[in-house]
Amino acid sequence: MLKVCKFGGTSMANAENFGKVKSIITAENERKFVVVSAPGKRDKSDIKITDLLYKCYDDVISIGSCHDTFKLIRDRFTEIVKDLGLNFDIESVLDETEKGIDAEKTTPDFAASRGEYLSARVMAEYLGYTFVDAADLIRFDSNGNLNAVYTDDKIKTKLSGIENVVIPGFYGKDSFGKIKTFSRGGSDVTGSIIAKGVSADLYENWTDVSGFLVCDPRIVPEAQIIDTLSYSELRELSYMGASVLHAEAIFPLITSKIPINIRNTFRPQDKGTMIVPTEHGYNPDKVITGIAGKKNFSVISIEKSLMNNEVGFIRKVLSVVEHYGLCVEHVPSGIDTLSVILSSEELKNGVLDDVVREIRESVAPDYIHVIENVALIATVGHGMARRSGTASKIFTALAEANVNIKMIDQGSSEQNIIIGVAGSDYEKCIRTIYNAFFGA
Ligand code: ASP
Repeated sequence: MLKVCKFGGTSMANAENFGKVKSIITAENERKFVVVSAPGKRDKSDIKITDLLYKCYDDVISIGSCHDTFKLIRDRFTEIVKDLGLNFDIESVLDETEKGIDAEKTTPDFAASRGEYLSARVMAEYLGYTFVDAADLIRFDSNGNLNAVYTDDKIKTKLSGIENVVIPGFYGKDSFGKIKTFSRGGSDVTGSIIAKGVSADLYENWTDVSGFLVCDPRIVPEAQIIDTLSYSELRELSYMGASVLHAEAIFPLITSKIPINIRNTFRPQDKGTMIVPTEHGYNPDKVITGIAGKKNFSVISIEKSLMNNEVGFIRKVLSVVEHYGLCVEHVPSGIDTLSVILSSEELKNGVLDDVVREIRESVAPDYIHVIENVALIATVGHGMARRSGTASKIFTALAEANVNIKMIDQGSSEQNIIIGVAGSDYEKCIRTIYNAFFGA
């Protein structure tokens, strides 16, 4: 059994947590490849090292040097090394890093990546493992996407024959050889890429929570932990706002079908959540896996008699939306009606009025109106495809709770039911669905 372990920002926040990470790694000698994030917050008022590094880049652009902000980063790492009792010349590494940040004036990526770089250097020293730079393994193509073939090949050649390795998360190199990062939280993606490259049996993702919860604990404090989640359920829940794992972390694993285990560094005795391909280890008896949602959508609702006979009607409406560069969230439709659901964030500064005007000009609807402040809630679970009554259970519960449903969309894969409600009913809606399926 070969495991790749990724440790998130809180696990790397201070020397004490480095100690916890070490005991997890040394508890099983299957944990041979370690991917680390930059140190996160030590407490609520603290600033993440990555955020300070983005500020360093801004300082370089505005005042020509990152010296003052970098001092905070320098102090953090010097303290960690001192508290760990390491005989490691971190000062020279920090001096070189500061120089590098001062010299890079075109993108923030180099600066942003240094939290992971420094974390991995210190962790490698502390564990007595080999440091391998992600810049030598992970490659992006000229469009900024991962060059998966090149990367996989590099990992296979560079890591074959070595065990006990620490790799920084979050970055690689672009096609010109410059450091480039993934989007925020991207060390999760690095972990997946390494897991695939070394053909791991399991990718353990160590965080500060004991797994995915059925729904947001700020709304339902007693929300249960999901024991098993499929890759595609994870996609649905992440897209709708569940944020334990980077939304793109499963892509590198899809073909190799490596499971991801979300674990808690601070409660290593908890089993966490297993994220698996649907056909492996998925619990077929479960109807609903999770409930997630997002607020702040606008629904453009269009009515026109005999709309379904008019060739190209939907295309014309969507062309207007495309013309404004907007992403469509959902398009529920009836015989004479069509709604387009868009994120309100993208419709600010008069864009909404322009879109509505152009749709009017393009398809001459009988009626067009906009509903704002809509929240979308997704109830997700493969189990609902095999059981009848799931939708009715949701809608009965919501009717009894007096929640007015504005829109319903059942995904064609029958693994989710999406409901639109007024933003003010958002919390009540999630709580009600939770009680209907998981309540006592
Ligand atoms: N340190 C980076 C961030 O804060 C990447 C990560 O933690 O995964 O986004």
